[in-house]
Amino acid sequence: MEERGSPDGDPARNLEQGPEGPETPIQVVLRVRPMSAAELRRGEQSVLHCSGTRTLQVSPPGGGPDVAFRFGAVLDGARTQEDVFRACGVRRLGDLALRGFSCTVFTFGQTGSGKTYTLTGPPPQGEGVPVPPSLAGIMQRTFAWLFDRVQHLGAPVTLHASYLEIYNEQVRDLLSLGAPRPLPVRWNKTRGFYVEQLRVVEFGSLGALMELLQMGLSRRRSSAHTMNQASSRSHALLTLYISHQTMPPVDPREPPAGGKLCFVDLAGSEKVTATGSRGELMLEANSINRSLLALGHCISLLLDPQRKQSHIPFRDSKLTKLLADSLGGRGVTLMVACVSPSAQCLPETLSTLRYASRAQRITTRPQAPKSPVAKPPQHLETELLQLQEENHRLRSQLGQMDPKASGLIGARVAWAQRNLYGMLQEFMLENERLRKEKRQLQSSRDLAQDEQRILAQQVHELERRLLSACYLHQPGPGPAPPCPCVMVPPPPCHALPPLCPCPCCHLCPLCRAPLAHWACPRRELHLPQVFGSKAPADMPLPARPPPWVPPCSPGSAKCSRERSHSDWIQTQVLAEMLTKEEVVPSAPPLPMGPLNTSPVLRGGAAVPNLARRLEALRDQIGSSLRRGRSQPHPSEGT
Ligand code: ADP
Ligand code: MG
Repeated sequence: MEERGSPDGDPARNLEQGPEGPETPIQVVLRVRPMSAAELRRGEQSVLHCSGTRTLQVSPPGGGPDVAFRFGAVLDGARTQEDVFRACGVRRLGDLALRGFSCTVFTFGQTGSGKTYTLTGPPPQGEGVPVPPSLAGIMQRTFAWLFDRVQHLGAPVTLHASYLEIYNEQVRDLLSLGAPRPLPVRWNKTRGFYVEQLRVVEFGSLGALMELLQMGLSRRRSSAHTMNQASSRSHALLTLYISHQTMPPVDPREPPAGGKLCFVDLAGSEKVTATGSRGELMLEANSINRSLLALGHCISLLLDPQRKQSHIPFRDSKLTKLLADSLGGRGVTLMVACVSPSAQCLPETLSTLRYASRAQRITTRPQAPKSPVAKPPQHLETELLQLQEENHRLRSQLGQMDPKASGLIGARVAWAQRNLYGMLQEFMLENERLRKEKRQLQSSRDLAQDEQRILAQQVHELERRLLSACYLHQPGPGPAPPCPCVMVPPPPCHALPPLCPCPCCHLCPLCRAPLAHWACPRRELHLPQVFGSKAPADMPLPARPPPWVPPCSPGSAKCSRERSHSDWIQTQVLAEMLTKEEVVPSAPPLPMGPLNTSPVLRGGAAVPNLARRLEALRDQIGSSLRRGRSQPHPSEGT
């Protein structure tokens, strides 16, 4: 019984029509590995028989009906690696990749069925020991063929390679310079799914490529279990990028545009009970099985006749993402299904055969990327030269422009870019400095105003006391009543005694002289009685009133007459009389502070005048007191 027929489709032949070729089925080749030594020792018989070159007969043990499967090619255990390479038609795929198509070869099947052997030969026998040429797999043979082909092409071809594995659903770079680390899988419109930051290595010789392969194989995860002593625990993808462009890609991290040839060595599905996997091995097995299940699911949906409308869940696993283009996209795909002839593996073998049969009914629509690959290389070279010439010409034209003008504009733009931010910063600093200065000035002004107020009060009080004393000691018709305000003890600080209501405190509002004295029309007559010609001869006679005298209002009628010098002498002499009465100045002490914070320096407008007046008053009183001690009291003489 033949379960499924296979379409006779040769992808290379079909694609001769052009890049926008017809729908092309996935090519499937079946490889049956020979019985292993252990299986032979157990006396097992093969349940698989080849019938011709394309049909496989399955004879279930126990006498059930045979089942036949038809593939593009069926290769039994007697076939060599070279036979497999030739039968698979990999060289045609290589040709398509050289023409710019994206081609994939992947092996599929149960663990221990010979997938890795088919692609890369037997596991390495030691570190750095190469695979014997006769046992080299499809990959090494394709590499050798490709280099031979490129040499005979006569056109420049650039070759790059990347090698990654999907281990426990993590993509790891097998060619990374450091230890492999997980890389993200991304998607964009032009590239489809791709691995970000994957190292793509350019190589120029077969030896270099073989070294890259060896490096990846040695770093790939593999473990031993009961069914395979060197079981791959990850899916491995080696990709060759074939480009006819001589110019490097715009983004150096991207592989150059051109054809691709990708080799995928899938990890095998396994029954954990059969392999005896435990711990980490079991986790790996679960991860492998899950991704293979996702792959099988995608293959099933791709076979759906309504699949154009249906959604294919390629995003379900990293593996299906990276195989999306090969399975349902624009690539050309070859699947090598590997099976074991052992009766013990029959359920898995039948499953693989069913999947492989279905896979070969999947069609893709191969399409070469729109790159200059299709153009003849000579044309590219000419175009490149033309562009270089144009670039050179434009540069020289730019250089011939007025260098002064262009230099000035450039300098201005640079200055603006450089200085706008700097200017802003400077303005902010300046602003802050000015604010600080303003705050300092305001506090100085407040302080000066306080001092001015205190000094004015002191001056006023001293004047008042001095003039009151003068008035009290003036000889009159009756004894002068003592003024209580002069007897008030000094206040503690900044508090002045209230003015007494006596007439002596009633000062002229214009010149602030006591009204009782200065307003007296006969005051001129009184003065000689007080001083007469007995004024001391050594007393200085200033031409102007002393500075402590409050200024007169210029428009004042009362002060239109300048006070005579004798008026000030009288005040001085009367002040001396205070010494006997032990009058204590009631003015508060001057505000203490550093020299540079004196009112004069701090800049109140009226403060210097007041300070001078206060100082003059003090001098006046002091000198009067001194003289009073050395001379007889004037009242004694009268
Ligand atoms: P898989 O990759 O499918 O798990 P392997 O390729 O590792 O299986 O093969 C398992 C074992 O079988 C290896 O020891 C390998 O050498 C051996 N083997 C597989 N295929 C063949 C073959 N065609 N001829 C000789 N030995 C083979
Ligand atoms: Mg393997």
